Amino acid sequence: MTRPSPSGPSEQERALRRRRSASIAIAVLLFTGVGAAPPASERAHAAPASNTAQCKLPAATDDLGSGFPVDDQALPAVGKLKSAMLFVDFEDHPATRGSLLKAESNLRSGVEYLENVSGGKLDVEVTSSDRWVRMPEPSTSYPFERGLSYEDHVRYIEDAIEAADADFDFSDTDVVWVVATEQAKNITYSPTTNHLDVTVDENNITHAITFGYDQWRWGGLVLAHESGHSLGLPDLYLFEAPADDPGNWHAAVGGWDLMGLISGQAPEYFAWHRWQLGWLDDKQVACAPLDSTTTIVPVEKSTTGTRSGDAMVVLPVSGTKAVVVENRQAIGYDREILTSGALVYTVDTSVRTGHGPIRVVDATPESAHRLDDAPFQPGTSWTEPSTGAVLSFEEARAGSLRVTVEPAA
Ligand SMILES: [Zn+2]
Repeated sequence: MTRPSPSGPSEQERALRRRRSASIAIAVLLFTGVGAAPPASERAHAAPASNTAQCKLPAATDDLGSGFPVDDQALPAVGKLKSAMLFVDFEDHPATRGSLLKAESNLRSGVEYLENVSGGKLDVEVTSSDRWVRMPEPSTSYPFERGLSYEDHVRYIEDAIEAADADFDFSDTDVVWVVATEQAKNITYSPTTNHLDVTVDENNITHAITFGYDQWRWGGLVLAHESGHSLGLPDLYLFEAPADDPGNWHAAVGGWDLMGLISGQAPEYFAWHRWQLGWLDDKQVACAPLDSTTTIVPVEKSTTGTRSGDAMVVLPVSGTKAVVVENRQAIGYDREILTSGALVYTVDTSVRTGHGPIRVVDATPESAHRLDDAPFQPGTSWTEPSTGAVLSFEEARAGSLRVTVEPAA
């Protein structure tokens, strides 16, 4: 089960950011971004350029994480994903007339996100209950507001499946989605489990997501976030905010991937996530390209259309850690992006979900925009602190960027 996501920025805050974007564009032009290399004695040398295998960092946690392969409880992210979508209501909160269509259409954008971003590699086939299924217990017997236990969550899912079973065929269901009526505000949030064990219609179901009232705040992308967990991706927001930045649960990646802030400005999945899920080909990954220049296409286009062009540069710095550079532009689901450019982040496969397995490097740490203006601009460079390698960024044609990696002198 995953934790509820803390609140994102309000609409007011997001509007303010958009208005500030003009002044930010000027600020980033002034940034030079070259850090000092550590003393030679502290440098570890990056591995020489070779095949992609050394960049596929092995999983080093027994939970959802950022390594390869994804957790063995994950559903395949390539091929058909069959979901059973059960709309449920309660004797204390009956659904209102016409509300089923509203609930279904709110979540549909999440299904579209998964299919679009995967470039059609994931085909989500949704079978919905054609009516509200009445749960056997009042909504108050499922304590979402009072610290829902894993057992309570499983009971909620099992009750929904049992209530729907009479006229619903679960025989080929991969994942059950339980959608509570909007009337039941006390079904507050939308957790996921990959460890269910329910046999119905001779099918053992192991995966479920339950959608609560927060779907009306997040919109349909909550479905894509939770489905990310079904497919093995970790939470990138922090379960505990940093001691020196209290309240900032988004200190690790901000709004740069919807496994972080669902309502962020740039919810497209990181290239790293697309690679983990099998949506990016190995040949689109430039692994440890020392002393060379790689042209990377915008991530938003990397898994759609023809799969040509590198999508990221990966520089392994230890057995569990790598630095990644990808190209983020204001297209696709990233169209509200504040600052485009070369987004640099670290991946550490020994770090658990919710503890920062991915952390974005902020090109403008002094700005007031936290990570929203994190990308490096063409003409700047950055020194990777543990190896001393210097990464520099240049503009290329059609929104592409050139990334040059020079090992420490
Ligand atoms: Zn989550």
